[in-house]
Amino acid sequence: MAKISIDLNSGTVAKSEAVIGIDLGTTNSLIATINNADRLPYCITNDSDSIVPSALYFGKDAIHVGKKAIAQLVNEPENTIYSVKRLMGKSYTDLQDLNHNLNYQIIDNQDQLVKVKIANKQYSPIELSSYILKDLKIIAEQKLNNRVNKVVITVPAYFNDSQRQATRDAGKLAGMDVLRIINEPTAASLAYGIGLTGDEGKTVAVYDLGGGTFDISLLYIQNGIFEVLATNGDTYLGGDDFDKAIVDIWSKQYDLKNLTASNRQILRLTAEEAKKALSTTTSFQKVVSIQGTNFTLSIRLEQLNDAIKPLIDKTMQSCQNAIYDAELSVADVQEVILVGGSTRTPLVKSTVEKFFSSAKVNDDLNPDEVVAMGAAIEADILAGNRKDMLLLDVTPLSLGIETLGGLMDVLIPRNNKIPTKLRKEYTTSVDGQINLAINVYQGEREMVTDNRKLGEFILQGIPAMPAGLPKVEMTFMLNADGILQVTAEEKRSGIKQEVQMKPQYGISDEEIKNMLQESITNAQEDMDRRGLAEATTEADQLIYATEKFIRENGELLNQESETVIRQRMDKIKEAIGAKDKNLIVSMTDELNNYSRQFAEKVMDKQINKALKGKKI
Ligand code: ADP
Ligand code: MG
Repeated sequence: MAKISIDLNSGTVAKSEAVIGIDLGTTNSLIATINNADRLPYCITNDSDSIVPSALYFGKDAIHVGKKAIAQLVNEPENTIYSVKRLMGKSYTDLQDLNHNLNYQIIDNQDQLVKVKIANKQYSPIELSSYILKDLKIIAEQKLNNRVNKVVITVPAYFNDSQRQATRDAGKLAGMDVLRIINEPTAASLAYGIGLTGDEGKTVAVYDLGGGTFDISLLYIQNGIFEVLATNGDTYLGGDDFDKAIVDIWSKQYDLKNLTASNRQILRLTAEEAKKALSTTTSFQKVVSIQGTNFTLSIRLEQLNDAIKPLIDKTMQSCQNAIYDAELSVADVQEVILVGGSTRTPLVKSTVEKFFSSAKVNDDLNPDEVVAMGAAIEADILAGNRKDMLLLDVTPLSLGIETLGGLMDVLIPRNNKIPTKLRKEYTTSVDGQINLAINVYQGEREMVTDNRKLGEFILQGIPAMPAGLPKVEMTFMLNADGILQVTAEEKRSGIKQEVQMKPQYGISDEEIKNMLQESITNAQEDMDRRGLAEATTEADQLIYATEKFIRENGELLNQESETVIRQRMDKIKEAIGAKDKNLIVSMTDELNNYSRQFAEKVMDKQINKALKGKKI
């Protein structure tokens, strides 16, 4: 029942506003809200189904969303758009691998965000998502017979800042007030309400296998605090791959090749139908017409299990990685929550149960609906209706800036709780530097070139000072939506610049997935590279300072000592050229030891300072 309130200005009786949670899925989207009578979440149904396929059909006069769009996949694949979520915050180059698997056309915009071409018009993924969200809003308003503006939208834990921002923008474009973007696993745990009753702490694993993505999250839940200990997953693994495995079986069996787009769709949809049937029965059979010929497509449960076992094993490896990151062992996990339509597949459930053998596996709630229900609870909290819960999330990848030598200097470490605000002080490396380029990166590698660049900006108008004197304070503020606000302030002059990270070059999903793995594989090499870069930077700085010293205080040196100093500088340069870290260090020490006697006499405080503190 809707609450009634009176608008005092107009004197009219106005219905209150409903707040909703939306699970904007790659495959399916759902809407949930809170029942005013019992304060419990429930999913809003449309045609007695809570699932709205995240698909769009561009008809002659109108854009259709959901089942109507799915129905057009076979006849007009080029006008039917799905998996828009995969395009969010991405550039064309990011999507090279995906391109071949899409029925619709994406436009090469170079470094710009990708656009989709439909009937000679171009649409951004934000616009496309906004059409879906608009439709969901209309459904909610009709079913609730109430205005709907305020919404919480969920995103996968692996979404980066650009993708979160794109999702938020889509909500805005759909005419909604996006209260917050939250992680899907966090929402799922909220739906189960574990921790609401102030009980003792519990470690919970949220296993979310959807249509195209897999996420595992480890949470520590206590007294209403949901703390994400670690996240892991695979942005290209889900029920769609099960469908593909079935398609492959049939294609091999009947030697089906060079099919038209619509015939491929028929196969794909039949495979999905078979997979779903095999969640409750042990065999499936159906006759379909492909290229004018009738084929009897059949599959048994054991065949499906054999085909998908390697895929499920991959998800268990991710679980293992998350447990390792959280510094836990499997036995520490007390409860598991199953999320996503694909957890209905029996082999998925039994494998998860076996892996977390000492945990209770929760599948009481509908795995399709838990994320939306949790989003509705969060929306309810943010609307001020519940104050008994506090949310904590973590950042899945480290955030930092580039320092001298191309090194990654982390401000917010990965798995740090958000919202969070961290500061660090930096300085300049060159005398009289008035502009400072600040490059912001995301990732775990030691060299920024191996990480993902989020953006760059220039702190301009620093008063000319000797190197090392400016005090540049960097502040990274990661808000509850996971959006990064970067502030650089030169403290002596008060010069300040504030930037919200805009998507620049995106990153391919494959890369996101591999980033964590790569940081482990390359740990030793990275350490060596960092060591070399640090030694080189220090040596460069010493040469810089020494040359300056000779220029400015040359009269203190006799011919002989100047020659020695120059020889030692040349040796350092040789060592740098040879990329020999140990040699660089020992040559640097040699010069330092020799020139100390002179330097100590005059080396001003600024240069002393310049040798401390990190330089950008
Ligand atoms: P997403 O979060 O990616 O939108 P969902 O959580 O809605 O995905 O899950 C969609 C996936 O779940 C699809 O691959 C779908 O085929 C699969 N699925 C739905 N119902 C079943 C079922 N009964 N058995 C097995 N898989 C199912
Ligand atoms: Mg999902």
